[in-house]
Amino acid sequence: MRLSQMLFVTLREDPAEAEIPSHKLLVRAGYIRRIGSGVYAYLPLMWRVLQKVSQIVRQEMNAAGAEECLLPQVQPSELWKESGRWDTYTQAEGIMFALQDRQGRELGLGPTHEEVITTIAREMIRSYRQLPRNLYQIQTKFRDEIRPRFGLMRGREFIMKDAYSFDADEAGMKESYRKMHDAYHNIMRRTGLAFRAVDADSGAIGGSGSQEFMVLADAGEDEVLYTDDGQYAANVEKAVSLPADAKPAPFKEFEKLDTPNTPTIESLCKLLKCSAAHILKNVLYQVVYDNGMTVLVLVSIRGDQDVNEVKLQNELVKLAGDYGGKAVIGLTVPDAEAQAKWAAKPLPLGYIAPNLKDDYIQSTKNVAPQFLRLVDQTAVDMQNFATGSNETDKHVVGANWGKEFQLPKRVVDVRSAKVGDRAVHDPEQTLKSARGIEIGHIFQLGTKYSKAMNATYTSEQGEEMPLVMGCYGIGVSRLAQAAVEQSYDKDGIIWPVAIAPYHAIVIVPNINDTAQMETAEQLYADLNAAGIETLLDDRDERAGVKFKDADLVGIPYRIVTGRSLKDGKVEVVKRATHESQEVAIEQVVTTLQEWIAQALAQ
Ligand code: ATP
Ligand code: MG
Repeated sequence: MRLSQMLFVTLREDPAEAEIPSHKLLVRAGYIRRIGSGVYAYLPLMWRVLQKVSQIVRQEMNAAGAEECLLPQVQPSELWKESGRWDTYTQAEGIMFALQDRQGRELGLGPTHEEVITTIAREMIRSYRQLPRNLYQIQTKFRDEIRPRFGLMRGREFIMKDAYSFDADEAGMKESYRKMHDAYHNIMRRTGLAFRAVDADSGAIGGSGSQEFMVLADAGEDEVLYTDDGQYAANVEKAVSLPADAKPAPFKEFEKLDTPNTPTIESLCKLLKCSAAHILKNVLYQVVYDNGMTVLVLVSIRGDQDVNEVKLQNELVKLAGDYGGKAVIGLTVPDAEAQAKWAAKPLPLGYIAPNLKDDYIQSTKNVAPQFLRLVDQTAVDMQNFATGSNETDKHVVGANWGKEFQLPKRVVDVRSAKVGDRAVHDPEQTLKSARGIEIGHIFQLGTKYSKAMNATYTSEQGEEMPLVMGCYGIGVSRLAQAAVEQSYDKDGIIWPVAIAPYHAIVIVPNINDTAQMETAEQLYADLNAAGIETLLDDRDERAGVKFKDADLVGIPYRIVTGRSLKDGKVEVVKRATHESQEVAIEQVVTTLQEWIAQALAQ
């Protein structure tokens, strides 16, 4: 393609809307344009990148035995009602764009396709002989994200590859999952990204397996905890670790003390001259279930630890049935406004004890009359601890479970693992922390959707059995931007060769110089004929402008028909290193072929 004929517009200034380097660069270099909140146009250069990413994804999915299809984006609400997700997706989480057609029928724009694929499987898979199956598509997804940001990283319309596997049993599903795991490794490696597969939260669905593929970059919205021996890496939402050992508490006997102005662990430690591990912290949460029921939750945990809200939410989903619900639609620390809706009297916030009386709750139809009391494992073995007294500005010390306080019946693991903790697999290893961008997520679903939607097959023994499913997503558009976030310098983008929009760009410093122009035309034709995707910068611009633009756009190899032409040579520059060398004109094609082959083999 000739730049003189392309819609090629670059910007000098960083766009005001962009916060992170990859977003700034993609806008400045003319890859994307913002059309609305979280909605972007993929301009011709970007579309080529996306096609390349898609092609690598496609090749690896096909090699793993999956079949490509294309599912509808417009999805009838009935399907989502069958799976039980319509209300959560349109109201509670509100992530699905919902609309009504002219007949008044409700529809959603697909944020994901479990419902659609399960209905297809229900109709088409009848017998164990048809298993296993794996179907995938590469398509635009719609999600009404509450905080769309960072360009393509978190859009409201974005491209995803999603795949769904169907197996006869758990063992089959695990095998399908393993194949996808390997395919994802290949995809990440081939796109040239430095990544890490990490254990991920599989939410209330349970099941043993869910992993995320993370690109490590400071702009990542996720935190990854890992050990240097390479044996452990997990999303902080899911991570486990050994809590630090606690020394015996300094309190000898039970007493209530005046502790003015000590609502925080830190202030209390200072006053009592003890460590945070000697304090029992009682944190109040408010959970709302999908049937509208509000439950007040009191979590007791060792004072040097923090509650992991994802783990807590998973525990609360398990208990949903006790309150007549199925799913959690909100989990918060209740603020003053929320408290006003149910508190019978002001709460002793900052001074709460595990035995806070239930009469603080003004029970109504939609509010459970008793606190749900949970105790984290770290708190169970505490002795002679300090904790609140349910009276402002007073704490008790020297308290024990079974004496002054009854140990809550429900013992849970809801503590956050954090950087510096010892690893479970080897206490010599400590957890390190890094930021990650979630590029892919693979998931052992089990029978959640097949049971809800009655998708069964007939087994070899003639029994009707639910299909056992897995699902596997890759953010194609997010991946493309993550590649930039991982690879740029002060001059612009440095594309990995495998997903660069073009391999090479031929720059003519002076288009009025016939020799320069003729050589450039010849190289441009020869390179393209040899399968090296090449641009020709034949614009009537100063050479400096052309070099700047080439750096910004990030094409891996630049060829300049300049001064050395008289010796039958051109200058060839590697974008990544700015390393430059003179190459004989007739050797340019073979040189680039070699470099590209080398880069792709990595
Ligand atoms: P996140 O935690 O980032 O919101 P998710 O867990 O909701 O993502 P999945 O449902 O697992 O995402 O979707 C599969 C993949 O699609 C993700 O791993 C991610 O790469 C991509 N993705 C998800 N949401 C977006 C979005 N709003 N914009 C761009 N890509 C996205
Ligand atoms: Mg995910």
